[in-house]
Amino acid sequence: MQRQDADTIAAIATAQGRGGIGVIRVSGSNIEPIAHGILGKQPATRYAEYGDFLDENGDILDQGIALYFQAPNSFTGESVLELQGHGGPAVLQLLLNRCLDLGARLAEPGEFTKRAFLNDKLDLAQAESVADLIEANTAEAARSAMRSLHGDFSDAIHDLLEGLTRLRMLVEAMLDFPEEEVDAVDIKQRDTWLTDLRGRLQKILETAKQGSLLREGAHIVIAGQPNVGKSSLLNQLSGDGVALVSDVAGTTRDVVRQTIQIYGVPLHIMDTAGLRESDDIVEKMGIERTHQTLHKADLILLLLDASKGLTKQDEQIMAGLPDNIPRLTLLNKVDLLKDSAPDQTLDPASYIGVSAKTGIGIDTLSAKLMEAVGWRDQEAGAFMARERHLRALSDAQSHLCHSEEVIASAELFAEELRLAQEALSKITGAFTPDDLLGEIFTRFCIGK
Ligand code: GDP
Repeated sequence: MQRQDADTIAAIATAQGRGGIGVIRVSGSNIEPIAHGILGKQPATRYAEYGDFLDENGDILDQGIALYFQAPNSFTGESVLELQGHGGPAVLQLLLNRCLDLGARLAEPGEFTKRAFLNDKLDLAQAESVADLIEANTAEAARSAMRSLHGDFSDAIHDLLEGLTRLRMLVEAMLDFPEEEVDAVDIKQRDTWLTDLRGRLQKILETAKQGSLLREGAHIVIAGQPNVGKSSLLNQLSGDGVALVSDVAGTTRDVVRQTIQIYGVPLHIMDTAGLRESDDIVEKMGIERTHQTLHKADLILLLLDASKGLTKQDEQIMAGLPDNIPRLTLLNKVDLLKDSAPDQTLDPASYIGVSAKTGIGIDTLSAKLMEAVGWRDQEAGAFMARERHLRALSDAQSHLCHSEEVIASAELFAEELRLAQEALSKITGAFTPDDLLGEIFTRFCIGK
């Protein structure tokens, strides 16, 4: 679906601010007059040429390298001009304005990648991974986004789609015969293929869940009395003691959040410091917000002080925690116990002994914590996936599951296979409504 008639768009492709180099990207069907106006000549295709970038009077705006890619051999599939000038906001704006004066319009967020998708340069899952790669905060997340951009996720989906097509063809051929005449060999083939497809889909779903965890992270509530060692524990867990993001919202009475990473997975930590009874109206609002966040958490880490055992205050805190959320109980400060045993009333199987000060038990805790939020170490590595992909994969899975229940009726069975196929096609973008495309690409940055 090459779209040669698309208008010409331009944007500053490098990040805002100052840098050594700044890049303007122009893409569309009418690049020549823009190139000619700025460079004074038509650039050779795929050739890096240093020269002057000119204004309308022929005066020099900047100097740098121009790169020209002729359609369809470019990122967008259209003719593309890239101007690499000096990375200052004013000079880049001058250059961008010059492109606009020469007939380009300002690109919308993600519009270059959207054009790459519409011109079949990337499928939708790959296009999304471009944004995920740029947004990745951890090395693991970046690697998994790269795997998706490279096409690992899309290839796995295409393999499944192919398998489904093959199975549908077999079943639809069976439809032409009365039941008693259907070959037993075909029935065996059908059952084997279905089992195989279900197994593969399950594996992809698991890998995609890991990718989604890398992208979205998990929400963890850390609860415990003041001075039990919550901050010290977070520093220990985050390895080098540096939290990636620390964002103290509003006042100290509000929800306190920070993000640390373990095994490359972002963990958004919420402190329950604000969870106490209060008559103060502002404080009450903060407490209410804390409660709302609490109920959405993936895991609660409850800290007890090993040197004090389970106290009344701990019991009060426990009573305030939702009991439908998985919980890990930690007995911190075990280094203080020396030879004495921890509180006898506590069942040793119910807690993990740690010391946020000396690091005792931290590795065990990291492993248990990550297991509790659903992280699985895998050989192949996760590929980046979004909530939307997980939903499509689960939909396909339930159609395959249902297909097995209706297998006696070839028509119903074939219909469930068709629906499974349709769900999977949404991932790569074969069946994607325009409003979804809009929603996906407007979240990109401008110039990408
Ligand atoms: P928070 O109020 O729950 O965040 O507690 P902090 O992390 O600020 O720790 C309170 C005090 O306990 C500090 O003086 C820490 O050094 C100390 N502490 C924290 N964890 C341990 C531990 O495992 N062992 C010992 N001995 N002291 C600890």
